[in-house]
Amino acid sequence: MIPALVDLGDFPILGRPINGHRLVYLDSAATSQKPRSVIDSLIYYYETTNANVLRSVHTLAEESTVAMEAARAKIAQFINARGPEEVIFTRGTTESLNTIARAWGDKFLETGDEIVLSPMEHHSNLIPWQQLAARTGARLRYIELEPDGTIALNQVQAQLSDRTRIVTLSAVSNVLGTFNPIREVADMAHQVGAIMVVDGAQSVPHLPTDVQAMGADFLAFSGHKMLGPTGIGILWGKSSLLDAADPVVFGGEMIAYVDRESATWAELPAKFEGGTPHIAGAIGLGAAVDYLQKVGMSRIALHSQQLAEEAYRRLAAIEGITVYGPPAPRTSVVAFNVTGIHPHDVAQVFDSRGVAIRAGHHCAQPLMHLLDVGATARASFYLYNSSRDVDALIEATEETKRYFT
Ligand code: PLP
Repeated sequence: MIPALVDLGDFPILGRPINGHRLVYLDSAATSQKPRSVIDSLIYYYETTNANVLRSVHTLAEESTVAMEAARAKIAQFINARGPEEVIFTRGTTESLNTIARAWGDKFLETGDEIVLSPMEHHSNLIPWQQLAARTGARLRYIELEPDGTIALNQVQAQLSDRTRIVTLSAVSNVLGTFNPIREVADMAHQVGAIMVVDGAQSVPHLPTDVQAMGADFLAFSGHKMLGPTGIGILWGKSSLLDAADPVVFGGEMIAYVDRESATWAELPAKFEGGTPHIAGAIGLGAAVDYLQKVGMSRIALHSQQLAEEAYRRLAAIEGITVYGPPAPRTSVVAFNVTGIHPHDVAQVFDSRGVAIRAGHHCAQPLMHLLDVGATARASFYLYNSSRDVDALIEATEETKRYFT
């Protein structure tokens, strides 16, 4: 029996009944729920501090700037960045990855260069590279997955060459829940002179993150999947690479000097933060980091892994259920299908019992093709879930089978 890691009273939404049942929220991989402290930080900001940052000298503007920069410093420390200037506020993982492709990729890639990635990537870590390849004449090379969906280093090696410029992988798959060997792949990428870009959307919420130990050059993640508000995310990059890259959003606050014909760019991180940022979101993400650190990322990692492995084991034991990826090690997400029943219908029956899961292709259509399915159901776990929620998942699965037969 695995209890929830936190007091469920911290999460107001979990007290809301859904269709007459207790809400069993198993869709945190899509977005997590928010603790009271994060919600309160947003209210407090708008009620007491609201002003634009970096622009004015009045009290509110200074307080607002200090609060946003404190959140940046906190996030830098949370991922072991070398300094807060390496932490760029974006709207989320998608915007962060697109920014890397534009800012670094457009400048440094040429015809014939190669981008190595896996077919399990979320579309956010796939389409920006397809588009970069189309703009520059580079080509994509895909790492072949093992039959269970994991990545073997010899298959990575097989795609590397002296033309590799970028290697990119998700640290945790949003469908298979598997851990990818980021450190090893980063070392291999560096050996051929490539940079390593990591999609941390599913790893940063669940695992201790140390960008230096990871060997990454860029890391992208989303605030809303780690208890923070929507519309805020992080692009972390080594300052030498961010300095070398070009800005992609031009306008206020990202410049050093402007005349009629030209402009020069501000120092990091402002160079990549043109326009008014999501100030409240950044502060809310800081509050989310406080909450996560209070619980402890090592405990969260263990919890997410134990729940996902328990769910896998119990689902796989039910006749007519296919579960994707290896049983272990895995974290947080479990994708499955019920033979003969469309995942949307599965999710609908679950919803009628208050159990929220995701159904669809999970923005990973190339992986769906490899699994030979159009879609799957997906349950995902976080620090407010417990074995009781796995019980609800299993009961809903049995009920779905009964309902359709
Ligand atoms: N990458 C992965 C692995 C994801 O799971 C997601 C979201 O589901 C994304 C990228 C995109 O994140 P966002 O929609 O917050 O930009």
